[in-house]
Amino acid sequence: MAGWIGARRRRSETIAEVLWRRVVADLPLCDGLTVDEVARLRDLAGRFLAEKRFFGAHGFDVTDYMRVAVAAQACRLALHLGYEYLRACRTIILYPEGFVAERESLDEDGILHTGYEELDGEAMYGGAVVLAWEEARPWRGGDDGAFVGNVVLHEFAHKMDELTGDHNGLPPLRRGMSVRNWSAAFSSAYEDLCAAVDAGEEPAIDDYAAADPAEFFSVTVETFFLAPDVLKWAYPAVYACLSEFFDEDPARLEEGT
Ligand SMILES: [Zn+2]
Repeated sequence: MAGWIGARRRRSETIAEVLWRRVVADLPLCDGLTVDEVARLRDLAGRFLAEKRFFGAHGFDVTDYMRVAVAAQACRLALHLGYEYLRACRTIILYPEGFVAERESLDEDGILHTGYEELDGEAMYGGAVVLAWEEARPWRGGDDGAFVGNVVLHEFAHKMDELTGDHNGLPPLRRGMSVRNWSAAFSSAYEDLCAAVDAGEEPAIDDYAAADPAEFFSVTVETFFLAPDVLKWAYPAVYACLSEFFDEDPARLEEGT
């Protein structure tokens, strides 16, 4: 039995060298990684591809480039944190572009309304990660180098958050980390952001983070990896928590460039 489990754990898909190099070159998320880290990322991505299933919505043809590009971005979150943090997602559904999701909401009088919302990505609770390829594809942003977000990081951050049983902005913390410190840092930053948005000010990070604590967590994760200096400047306590959680200090890399 132990042998069978061992064999299962080693399951991995081999990613062709040319394809892997292309994805790494295309992804800003891989900039600054060491040779060892790129090799580890490739191992994680191979495991991800062997274990997760990809589907194209409405007959969309999902290519190997798309699968590897999504796997590499999702696994970038787990590079130092640990692959097990990706376990809440087994299925990825790709749409070619933004998709429409039905939304139900109760108004103040308790009347149920059904509406529609166009989305670039969605992390379905207990289910799939749904992505619009147009947004999930590797992209280096505009000429000004402005931070443009990353829907793959965003949705997989929700799946990590979900591991505690709810989308609430508190993923299972690594051994030795303090839930109290995490909650204090995130609550205070979230309240600060909401106050800025209410006051009509331009917030330091994407104002979508003001939607609720779960969105705040996912947006800060995106910012941590792609504009770490911005997050460190705006919310240093949140940056410190994420740095401890992901076991990385990306702002240090940026300062060094
Ligand atoms: Zn979200």
